[in-house]
Parts: sequence; structure tokens; C-alpha cells
Amino acid sequence: MQVERKILLNPGPSTTTDTVKQAQIVPDICPREKEFGQVMADISRDLVKIVHGKDDDYTAVLFCGSGTIGIDITLNSLLDKGKKALVVQNGSYSKRACEVLDAYGLPYIELKQPIDTPPDLDVVEDALRSNDDIGYVYMTHHETGTGLLNPIREVGALAHNYGAFFITDTTSSYAMIPINIYEDNIDFCMASAQKGIMGMTGLSYVIGRKDIIEKSKDFPVRSYYCNLYMQYHYFETTGQMHFTPPVQTIYAARQALIEYFDEGEEAKWARHLRVMEEIHRGEDELGLKEALKREVQSGLVSAVRYPDDMNWDFDKIHDYCYERGFTIYPGKIEQKGTFRLCALGAIDAGDIEAFWKVFREALEHYKVEIPVRYDG
Ligand SMILES: *Cc1c(COP(=O)(O)O)cnc(C)c1O
Repeated sequence: MQVERKILLNPGPSTTTDTVKQAQIVPDICPREKEFGQVMADISRDLVKIVHGKDDDYTAVLFCGSGTIGIDITLNSLLDKGKKALVVQNGSYSKRACEVLDAYGLPYIELKQPIDTPPDLDVVEDALRSNDDIGYVYMTHHETGTGLLNPIREVGALAHNYGAFFITDTTSSYAMIPINIYEDNIDFCMASAQKGIMGMTGLSYVIGRKDIIEKSKDFPVRSYYCNLYMQYHYFETTGQMHFTPPVQTIYAARQALIEYFDEGEEAKWARHLRVMEEIHRGEDELGLKEALKREVQSGLVSAVRYPDDMNWDFDKIHDYCYERGFTIYPGKIEQKGTFRLCALGAIDAGDIEAFWKVFREALEHYKVEIPVRYDG
């Protein structure tokens, strides 16, 4: 079966290989069978391996859901009675974390920081110093709305110095930017199969320290479905997910992981950087400007400012590109017109080269001046 290849430049789900797509077509199986339990156990082990964790210390707990489920689970399951969360808020995904805490009515300190530069570490330390009841520090590793990369290693170290543990949302960096869970001072991180590993949507995972998960057994249970210890314990004792897993998505994830290790951590990251280099090259050629300076960017997302041209219309340009197999995506910066070009997925520099040809055609078609103009 031939599936048309689409180039997704949105921040996930990402372009997948044909072999990953095809891995979903399997004989029907009841996920309570031992055979399927083994598939999940293998995946879980591989997920820990990607961030260089040891099985004795870390585990990956699987959940059925999109990436936001990982934010929900970690925040609500890992806060002990009498403790507060500390959230570094500098983008739409850490803002989402605050919304989750609000939804549960949990106490937290929101450290609002600029969205276009890394956070001020002194502000984080001051907050830790002046509050002795912080249970965990939470920060997004890569703020996908802007492309800002946050200093997890430094903030993780600060959290540990003050006796808090460190949770980071690595949904849009995991299996792309090399992460070492020990050196990066991570107690918990999370991701989703449709992003870094280039699998299908519907499977998410929280990777974290076993001793803390065991301890969280005595923390208040705030959600029935999204509870970390419950899911961990159920899998440990039965080899099954508590509730029905996304069976076909899991077979795709198994194949995606095979391909991940075949490509290799370094080569894969080099490929993503190559893709971003080509994205930047095309922007420079057309005069497109970005919302963030390149030195603070992750290398995976570029937020491009809308040109100040009467004829610029994002939807029209989007549709023109979409009809030709390239998907671009609106930005997520409040009150600012931006769109995003992302280096996720099974794509390479040649795909971006082909994209820029189509994008230029679209500008010409709608009579947007080249090089594009900005008033400010
Ligand atoms: C994609 C993403 C998520 C998850 O979003 P879903 O739409 O729920 O899959 C969470 N955090 C970050 C940083 C992301 O990029």
C-alpha cells in the first residue's frame, strides 16, 4: 500500500516513515494477552534508555492520551499534602501547567518570565529560598509556541539544592535534543509518541524516578484516570495498562523505537539541526524575521513574524502550501502575528528546500513583495 508523503512543519504530530505507518496493521489482539504486555514492557524500557536512565532508578509509565495528559498526571500526582508547586512560566505550555494546577485547585507559585529569553535563575532561586514548602519545580524544556529552549540542568540543580524535585515537560524535545536524565537533573520528564520518536498520536509516557513514584503512593489521589502511582503499580503487578491501551499506536511506537536506535541519538539530532539550518537559510533569503533570537532557540521550532504587507494572509499561504503537500502552522504568541516552521519528524533538508520553492511561489501568487517587508 502506497501512502502519499506529506511534509508536516507543524509542531507535531510529525511526518512518519511508511514502516511506522504500516506497523499499525497487525492481527487483532486483546491487550490483556501476555504477548502484548511484553511489547509494552519493551517499549517502556527503550523509553528510559533514550534519556540514558538505568532501569533500577527510572521507569517509563505509559498512558493513553495526547501529550497534555503527561502535564496533568505529573502535576496532580506528585504534589504531597502541605506542599506547593513552583512553575517557571514563560510560554504557552508552562501556562497550560498553571491551568492544570488551577483546575485541581492546587497551590502553586507562578514565576512569570519573559517568553523570548531564558528565565532568570536568581528569581527561581529566590523563590525556592523564601518558600520552604515547594514540593516540585516545574518547567517546560522546549516552549514549542516560540521555540525557546529552557535551562533544565541549571533549574533542576536549583530544585535539588532546596530539597524539591524537578519535573520538566520534554514533549517537544525528547528523542530529539539529547537528554541525560542524570546530568540534566531530571526527576520526571514526559513525552508523546507523535513527536520525538516519530510515532502515532495516542500514546504518552511519564519517565521518572521509581523511588519518588513509590513515595507518591501516600500523596493525595486527585484524579482517578490520571494518577501516576496507580498506573505504575498496575503495570508492575500485572504487566498491563490499567485501562485499554491504544493497541495499534503501540505497535507503531515499537517500530518507531527500532528506527530511533537505528538512526542513533547523535545522527538524529544532527538531522533535525540540518533541517532547521535549511529553514533559517530560506527565511534569510526571503527576508523573513523571527520572534526569537537564534541563540536562544531550541533548533526545533522557528516562530516567524508575519510580514507587514497588505497582501499577506496566513490562511491563503497556508492553503497554497497545504495543497502541495506542506503543512505550516499558526504561532502561539499572544497579540503577535507569527507562524511556525518546525524541524520535527522524518524529514530532511531536501524537504525544506522543496518547501521554500512552494512558499516563494505562494508569495508571488498572492503578490507579497520579496524580500518581505517589516515596518518595525
Ligand atoms: C505538543 C506538546 C504537548 C502536548 O500537546 P497535546 O496537544 O496534548 O499532544 C505538551 N507540551 C509541549 C511542550 C508540547 O510541545
